[in-house]
Amino acid sequence: MKITVIGTGYVGLVTGACFSKMGNKVYCVDIDSSKINGLKNGILPIFEPHLGTMVRNGQEKGDLVFTTNIQEALDDSNIIFIAVGTPMAEDGSANLDYIFSAATDIAENISQDSLIVVKSTVPIGTCFKVKEHIDNILTERNINIHIDIASNPEFLKEGRAIEDCMHPDRVVIGAEKEEVFETLKDLYSSFVLNHDRFVLMDIKSSEMTKYVANAMLATKISFMNEIANICEVTGANVQQVRLGIGSDKRIGYDFIYAGCGYGGSCFPKDVQALIHTAQVNGYEPMILSNVEKVNLNQKKVLVNKVVDRFGSDLNGQTFGIWGLSFKPGTDDVREATSLVVITSLIDKGAKIKAYDPEAIDEFKRTIDEKYLDSIEFTKDRYSATENCDGLILITEWKEFRNPDFELLKENLNEYVIFDGRNIYDKKITQRGFELFQIGC
Ligand code: NAD
Repeated sequence: MKITVIGTGYVGLVTGACFSKMGNKVYCVDIDSSKINGLKNGILPIFEPHLGTMVRNGQEKGDLVFTTNIQEALDDSNIIFIAVGTPMAEDGSANLDYIFSAATDIAENISQDSLIVVKSTVPIGTCFKVKEHIDNILTERNINIHIDIASNPEFLKEGRAIEDCMHPDRVVIGAEKEEVFETLKDLYSSFVLNHDRFVLMDIKSSEMTKYVANAMLATKISFMNEIANICEVTGANVQQVRLGIGSDKRIGYDFIYAGCGYGGSCFPKDVQALIHTAQVNGYEPMILSNVEKVNLNQKKVLVNKVVDRFGSDLNGQTFGIWGLSFKPGTDDVREATSLVVITSLIDKGAKIKAYDPEAIDEFKRTIDEKYLDSIEFTKDRYSATENCDGLILITEWKEFRNPDFELLKENLNEYVIFDGRNIYDKKITQRGFELFQIGC
């Protein structure tokens, strides 16, 4: 098949690379010429395991083309995916400017019947508005071509994006016509060869499914974080409670880890957008509003523990930070807990030494520059602990799991560890460490 993917960000790039891996010809279009030039020269805009090899192979075979020229792409495609960003607007709604500007670009350049598939996460009803927008421009252009629209939300996880895309748990397709379902099933059949994983539905339900998936996962995390906070005040241990409830098949073990809050480009904005959608339609969501509140509170839990231990004036104190990305396996720091923890500690007078295997550059670009003078970024994990008054673990990268505790003792002024992801065994207290965890 011949495919155009508009938006070469996390989703567009990964999806485009995976489609090309399956033998399709794929054009990845972006308005960011530096990103496209970089990709043509083998420079990836994101860190994602296995993506580099796939992009390189696809380009070498001529199956994967990066371009800023949408017309070149559309002239040679009959399926067009929209995978541009839908960031959070100030009122919490999804900002659809990129979606409609992509729709305008398509409508102004398209010259043949096509299927347009919205892969971006968009509020319920957006696909129909996109089709109407395109049809209006085609009428103005006085061009008689037929456009079909479909919704095909993306469920990949950053850090495992290629695996998720190549072996999806499910492929959700929202459409109105049997032939649209068939076209998309043909495209995806090579990804789900061992058994049928298609979930077919109407367009609005498909748009809603994406929000509900993220809202459900965010709710599980916030629920468990709330339980962790109750465990702390009652003397129970949330890690043991987790095992106690996870063994119930109706509950399961996934996404019930307590920690220092969720971040990333999706959960915070998608929960907010769903709240907004409910409100503009006259429904006040009670659970969702509190999922967000619990999470904002949870991002401050580590800072509160530092203040309880060291006092609220942190002048003269230096803290080592392990992990800046919002989760392991990615360099994405959007809405990361590290931003809240580091800025709050610096506001209280502290200095920071920080290490992350992948996310330092992104973090430097994202944090307010006024904080940069107070942060020393290090090239390895142990240097970030030298002469520090405590170590704060925020992101559970594998290299932090089993550190050399004796070396940490040599480096740290005080043997204090704040473990924001509950990865350390309480036994380290027998080696002289003070260990502060979440809910245990
Ligand atoms: P991103 O910000 O990484 O990338 C978006 C890209 O679109 C950018 O490169 C931007 O330059 C480009 N763009 C904007 N307007 C354009 C236009 N008119 N023409 C061509 N390119 C244009 O975004 P992302 O993280 O890939 O997310 C895209 C969508 O997928 C969002 O709706 C997001 O919620 C959803 N999603 C993201 C993830 C994830 O893990 N990142 C997972 C599932 C779904």
